[in-house]
Parts: sequence; structure tokens; C-alpha cells
Amino acid sequence: MSRATENSFLPLDIGSFGEESKAVIDFIADYYKNIEKYPVQSKVEPGYLSSSLPDSAPYSPDSLEDVLNDVNDSILPGLTHWQSPSFFAYYQASSSTAGFLGEMLCSAFNVVGFNWISSPAATELESIVLDWMAKMLKLPSSFLFSGTGGGVIHGTTCEAVVCTLAAARDKALKQLGGSWDNITKLVVYASDQTHFTFQKAAKLVGIPPSNFRFIQTSFATEFAMPPQLLRVAIENDIQSGLVPLYICATIGTTACGAVDPIAELGKVANEYNLWLHIDAAHAGSACICPEFRHFLDGVELASSLSMNPHKWFLTNMDCCCLWLKEPRFLIDSLSSNPEYLENNATKSNVVVDYKDWQVTLSRRFRALKLWLVIRRHGVENLMRHIRSDVELAKQFEALVAKDERFEIVVPRRIVLVFFRLKPKHGVDGRELNRKLLDAINSSGRAFMTQGVVAGIFAIRCVVGATLTQEHHLKDLWSLIQEKARLVLLQCTQ
Ligand SMILES: *Cc1c(COP(=O)(O)O)cnc(C)c1O
Repeated sequence: MSRATENSFLPLDIGSFGEESKAVIDFIADYYKNIEKYPVQSKVEPGYLSSSLPDSAPYSPDSLEDVLNDVNDSILPGLTHWQSPSFFAYYQASSSTAGFLGEMLCSAFNVVGFNWISSPAATELESIVLDWMAKMLKLPSSFLFSGTGGGVIHGTTCEAVVCTLAAARDKALKQLGGSWDNITKLVVYASDQTHFTFQKAAKLVGIPPSNFRFIQTSFATEFAMPPQLLRVAIENDIQSGLVPLYICATIGTTACGAVDPIAELGKVANEYNLWLHIDAAHAGSACICPEFRHFLDGVELASSLSMNPHKWFLTNMDCCCLWLKEPRFLIDSLSSNPEYLENNATKSNVVVDYKDWQVTLSRRFRALKLWLVIRRHGVENLMRHIRSDVELAKQFEALVAKDERFEIVVPRRIVLVFFRLKPKHGVDGRELNRKLLDAINSSGRAFMTQGVVAGIFAIRCVVGATLTQEHHLKDLWSLIQEKARLVLLQCTQ
């Protein structure tokens, strides 16, 4: 007796697959149609969900209709709507129809391309798409498979930083004679604006926290890392008998959008033989436009570069491109070849086995999604998408700058406007702006977050949600003005 007739249970029923999928797609289309009706930031209290869902799993199957009703009634209220056109918080996760369809195909095939033979198309498409992206960013051929380098798609920047740090660590330990005792000598450098991902990654690969150097930034460089201070720090460490290992530079920092001077940092890195990684998680997308490409000037001096198409490149979560000039150091550090994965393709040494380029063995076919995004938009529309967001950010910045009650704290580089209400005498600027931000966010009409530089608390407005249009920024500005009046009134009373 077949499994199906025995208990009429088909986990993958080709007959009803189309119909059920269509019901979900209709649900999603309705969600997007109504997205502006929901409060952008969720208003639920911690633990809200357990009161509306049963406390154990159903023994018999639930209908799809029941599940979708629960998604509607119980899940949606607990979502912060990242795809809302009034979402200006963090850095966005920009989705698109193409990104969504790519994700569907990836999920449909559900292949696990850990090595070439396990799904040749998954590996080969990934290498091709990374070369496409590299060419769009005008990276030197030293980062391309068609040149002397190569790349890989990770889930997140955090993984890219962990893996490149491990590669740099193992390369240095080898140069130092091979003893792991030398790990206590390795020193890593970043600015005080660098994403916390870097500290987490350095800890994970065993760099002693006392060997993390945070180069101080200030208003003088608009919070970019000053190369001369980096040089001083490296010299000091060498004098103390330590071994400078790795610099993490950022294009588009998280708090205020600062851009580190890659060419100058690259010169220091090369002079002292350090691994320079460029974290362009968010702003890397802008570098496909000729007018922003200069942020990457000097990239030829770096060892590796990563950016997240899932942030501002219309590619649904998750997708992080990492390129390396010398992938062999990554492979040396991360490869392992157990008997059960042995195959002739690997032995021939002509294929890429991506399991040796990342932490995990299993991996998703993310290249399919990025390929769809690039093909369905074309470079032309991808550039248009970046430019229209920059234009909106510019207009918003002008509105803020014109109002005397406000100030732009750090000038906008790309799409992040970093501003605050100017505190009057005797008023705490942090408290004032915290109140303003809370008032805006709790209205449900828009969502922004905050950043702190040199002790100054300011509000971050990032433009980049796919559905955002000019009128959403006008509405945001009206909302800010409305709440500013109230907050200012409160503090003069
Ligand atoms: C978002 C971001 C990160 C973290 O990215 P993940 O992909 O979530 O690990 C790191 N650096 C910068 C500059 C970012 O904007």
C-alpha cells in the first residue's frame, strides 16, 4: 500500500500545490495593498502572542485558511512593517517582486550546493553573479573569478567578517611559524563607528579583546577613520611586540553614515602587511552609480570587500556578497574534506566548493535570487532606484536644514539624514530628542531610530524602503514638526 492511501497524507501534494500557493500569494498581495493601514512599529507588549495561540502543537492538521487567519489576527499585529513606505529606521531590508520570485525559486528547488557536484548550477551561477556584481561596482579584476580573485554569497556581513578574520588569522599564524600561542599577539583595528559585528567576529575567532583597537573619530573627519591615528596605533603595537593583523573599514557606518577613506587606509594596510576588509553592507549598493563609485577608490588595496544586496538592492533577505583578492587564504582556513563528501570534481581542483568559503556546510541557492533581481531590473533601473532614494533624502535634508529649531548633526553622505532638535539652554538634548522620537514612533505613522556620535544623540532618517515616495517624506516632515511643537511646549512649561 502506498503511503498516500494508507493515511491520505501528502506533504508535497502536486495536485493542491498551485491552489495553496495562490492563496498565500493573494494573502501577500493584500498585505502589500494594505500595508499603510498598519502602525509601522508594532505596538504589542512582550509576551503578547502566547495569549492568542494554543500552548502546544495541533495533533491533527490545521487548514491553510485557519493558519492564514491566525497570521492575519495574531502575527500581523506583532510585526514592525519593514516594507512600509514610512519605515525610515535602521537600514532597510528592501524587497521587490523579482527578489520575492527569486526567493520562491530558491525555496522550490531547495538544493544544498555545498560543493560543486551537489548542484553544479548553484555554484556556477553564484560565481557568475558575483562577477556581474563586481563589474557593476567596477572592482578591479583581482576580485573577479574571471581575473585572479573570487567571491561567495553569505547570509550576512557578520559571517563575511568572521570568515575573513579567520583567513587573516590563519595566514598570520602560519607566517609566525605555526604556533597557536601567537594568537595573543594579533591585533585588529576599526574605528569607534564600526559595526558591532566586527567585535563579535573578532571574539569568535579568538582575538583577545585587549587587542581590539578602536580608532577615535570626530566631527573633524565627519566620523570617518583618520589614517594617521591608525598608523600611530599600529606603530605602538609593533613597538610593544604585537602583530597588527586586520583593519575593518566601513563605507556607510550605521550611526551616521560616515565613509572611511579607503585609499589612505589601504596604503597603511599595505605598508604594514595587514588584511584590509571593507564593510560596505548598506552603501555598497550606491557604488554601482558612477557618481558614488569614488567611495570605493583604493579598493584595489583591500584584501576583501562585502556588501548586502538585502539592504538596499531590492533583494529579499538574506544575501551578502563577499569578494576576496586571494580566496585561497579563506579556503586554507575553512576547508575540510571528510570521506563522505569525496568526489572527482573536487579532486580535479577545477571547481569551487563553496562549503570551504563559509562557516556552514549547508547553503541556500541565493544566487538565483540575486540573478533575478539583476536581470529583471537591469543595471539601468537599479541605478534609477538608488538615485531616486538619494534625491528624496536630499529633499528631506533640505526641509530639516531650513527649520531653525533643528540641526543636521553630521552632513548626509548618501541616504541617511542625521538630525536633531537643537536643545535650548538648560534642556538635555538627549532627553528632548528621545521624547520627539518616541512621539513620532508611537504615532504609528512612521518609524525612525537613533544614533549617538561624540555623545550627541540624534535621529536617523534613512530613505530606502522600496515603496517610499516623495509624499511619504512630506508626511514624515509634517509629523516631525507636529510632534516637535508638542515636545518643545512640554519642556518650556
Ligand atoms: C547592517 C550592517 C552590518 C551587519 O550586517 P548583517 O548582514 O546583519 O550581519 C554590518 N556593517 C554595516 C555597516 C551595516 O550597515
